[in-house]
Amino acid sequence: NKQVVLKNYVSGYPKESDMQIVTSSIKLHIPPDTQNAVLVKNLYLSCDPYMRGRMAENGAASYLSSFQPGEPLSGYGAVKILDSTHPNYKKGDLAWGFTGWEEYTLQVSPQLLIRIEQTDLPLSYYTGILGMTGLTAYAGFYEVCSPKKGEYVYVSAASGAVGQLVGQLAKLFGCYVVGSAGSKEKVDLLKNKFGFDEAFNYKEEPDLDAALKRYFPEGVDIYFENVGGKMLDAVLPNMRIRGRIAVCGMISQYNLDKPEGVHNLPNIIWKRLRLEGFIVSDSYHLYPKYLETVIPYIKQGKIVYVEDVAEGLESGPASLIGLFTGRNIGKQLVVVSRE
Ligand code: NDP
Repeated sequence: NKQVVLKNYVSGYPKESDMQIVTSSIKLHIPPDTQNAVLVKNLYLSCDPYMRGRMAENGAASYLSSFQPGEPLSGYGAVKILDSTHPNYKKGDLAWGFTGWEEYTLQVSPQLLIRIEQTDLPLSYYTGILGMTGLTAYAGFYEVCSPKKGEYVYVSAASGAVGQLVGQLAKLFGCYVVGSAGSKEKVDLLKNKFGFDEAFNYKEEPDLDAALKRYFPEGVDIYFENVGGKMLDAVLPNMRIRGRIAVCGMISQYNLDKPEGVHNLPNIIWKRLRLEGFIVSDSYHLYPKYLETVIPYIKQGKIVYVEDVAEGLESGPASLIGLFTGRNIGKQLVVVSRE
């Protein structure tokens, strides 16, 4: 059983060498008399920014416990059930949810596993648009942003897994949408593939405030926050009165020992803003409704989806750390096995 294990706790930017590929010779099976267990083959693994928090010794800084050095990482993935004593799963079923960064995982009373019923879209989509990241975009946009047709929406890290979907949902809803991303290729995707009204490369803007004023001369009604730090600081004075900021993530802060100061907070008062953080795990009750909405959109081509697919468990460490340098173009995932 090949595994990606954490070598040491991480501080600062994570490196490939913080992880290691090891092979364990223990043959996994469901022990006799063990109920509610599944043995899964991991097919596709999702690389997610929150995993950085779990690589730190003080995982409490994030909202989940730390990974243990010497143990495989864990995260979201799409899996095949090889054996089961769980009433909800039988051999051959497909599911997505929490699993190990390894070829096979024994899960006793799985923490989060959802059976996959719809199999006429690529299975890898369950690491992203049909899984946790998709639901994040949906719950964040509809529940937290309180959108109204015609409003001005700004999305940061817009070409990523969450951002690309937020932008498209906002367009379908009838909003005016601008996204930012960190390369020309990503900006082209935003404008030409995902249908954003405008997009810009934040790395080429010497003055983010001026850039936002250029794209939002009348201000921003909704900011979907993925980045934090300087970006948030620049957005705050550009918000319109009674604007909403859905705080989904702050990836620019995850590798810093101390979060950067944000200076423009008084705008929250002056502009009567609502800033609301949210975590997708509070929104799983919306998942069936979300699938009913998004699957037809995908099939009709009204929503498109871009994945960055890395081959083999060995590519896991580089793919994961690549999120923090913007190496990924679209949703980053790792193929462990295609069947
Ligand atoms: P992405 O696919 O967007 O990948 C991360 C991207 O972030 C990179 O490609 C890079 O794009 C950008 N980035 C990295 N470092 C910086 C930086 N210092 N400044 C600005 N941009 C940076 O990841 P996801 O879509 O999976 O996640 C997006 C955000 O959503 C993250 O903040 C994540 O933590 C959050 N999230 C929150 C959830 C919740 O429940 N609240 C659930 C899932 C995700 P670029 O080239 O454009 O810089």
